[in-house]
Amino acid sequence: MTTDTGTTRRHPVLVVGAGPAGLSAALALRAAGLPAVLLDRRTEDSIRPGSRAAYLHGASLRELERLSPGLGHDIAGRGQMWATKRSYWAGKEVFTRTYAPLTRDGLPPFTSLPQVITEDLMADACRKAGAEFHWGVEITSAETTPDGVRLTDSAGRTWEADYVVAADGSRSPLRAAIGSPLEGPRSQHTFVVVDLVDDPDHPMPIERVFHYRHPKAGGRNVLTVPFAGGWRVDLNLLADDDPEKYISPEGLRNWLSRILPAAYGERVSWVSTYRFAQQVATHFTDAHHRVLLTGEAAHLFAPFGARGMNSSIPDAIGAVEAITEALDATRPHTATAAVARFAAQRHEAASYNRACAASALEHMLAQRPSMWLRQRAAAAVADAGRRAGAWLDAAPYGPKLAARGAARTSY
Ligand SMILES: Cc1cc2nc3c(=O)[nH]c(=O)nc-3n(C[C@H](O)[C@H](O)[C@H](O)COP(=O)(O)OP(=O)(O)OC[C@H]3O[C@@H](n4cnc5c(N)ncnc54)[C@H](O)[C@@H]3O)c2cc1C
Repeated sequence: MTTDTGTTRRHPVLVVGAGPAGLSAALALRAAGLPAVLLDRRTEDSIRPGSRAAYLHGASLRELERLSPGLGHDIAGRGQMWATKRSYWAGKEVFTRTYAPLTRDGLPPFTSLPQVITEDLMADACRKAGAEFHWGVEITSAETTPDGVRLTDSAGRTWEADYVVAADGSRSPLRAAIGSPLEGPRSQHTFVVVDLVDDPDHPMPIERVFHYRHPKAGGRNVLTVPFAGGWRVDLNLLADDDPEKYISPEGLRNWLSRILPAAYGERVSWVSTYRFAQQVATHFTDAHHRVLLTGEAAHLFAPFGARGMNSSIPDAIGAVEAITEALDATRPHTATAAVARFAAQRHEAASYNRACAASALEHMLAQRPSMWLRQRAAAAVADAGRRAGAWLDAAPYGPKLAARGAARTSY
């Protein structure tokens, strides 16, 4: 039996990818008493930039706490919460709500902190639980049979397992290997996302603010969200905008200093652009029910609504529950049925999340005249009718009620 090279050791389960989905799977495996072996192409000390999945739902905190007691509280303790959310329409406030401070003990309804900190805390919890990490292992191909999976890495080594949790992210080689393409559109519009480091000399109120048609941003929508140590700003570019103009150092200084205290134009720590994705893999497992897709290997959603990482966690937990059942099964049919059930349930949750992302995008772009008129009417009556303002405030994130096990939104 070998250890590090993996050549002849047969594992009950291998997890490919040590992002949020893979780490959640490893925690779930250890909580179920199974060995957790993770393979990741990164080096152990590689740094993943940007706040990325900064917003963690209460449901995610509770699941992580259940898998690893103390972890949910550790993450919440490092994160930032805000009591006030606010929306503006073209310079006019249309909605504000401030929540009373939390008085009960327990986990908060959400927290906001850079994804890299959440991942570090999750990885520490994995190590403490006895998970085994193999860094610098890039899986390049996978072959499945009715009996298991054989992975090959870029160094030519093979890794064998009864089941594989595919948590290898948006470009997932495992998704390609099982022939499950992503289906669904990506917006033509570009969204700019910027992280700003807190400036103690120019403190800003700890509030989540969405500004429709910001007059100082040329009528573009702007979302500002606090996270522990900084601020995340999303700028919705218009169809004809050249993204370069908005992400160059000069461009950033230009628009940021118009909408925030000028000092923040110099406090950019990360900038990125994205298109609004609404994509789901055609199927979440292979023909032999041996590879289970989770996280961004299975679906891509835009950041609005925070459905990416927050739905990766129930994906991973569902995959491990199915694998546990399959490993215990005495008949092949029972094992296959458990994995098929996982695949169907998480595909349904992802499809629901995709529909939510589509509705959020439709709202933000307001390309249909009926939507545009409805928004303008809501903004006009928001002073008198609180429901109109509440609708404008909530709609950029998509519907709030989620299908069983899907991500919930509550920015
Ligand atoms: C700008 C931006 C903002 C975002 N904001 C939010 C947000 O506010 N809220 C939210 O919920 N989500 C957000 N997301 C999405 C969130 O970051 C992802 O959903 C989350 O990281 C997905 O986790 P994952 O584990 O599936 O994939 P990843 O985090 O991508 O992890 C995949 C892992 O697999 C490894 N890997 C890849 N290929 C291989 C290979 N061939 N062999 C071995 N290892 C491999 C990678 O090194 C990586 O460690 C955002 C994303 C971006 C880009």
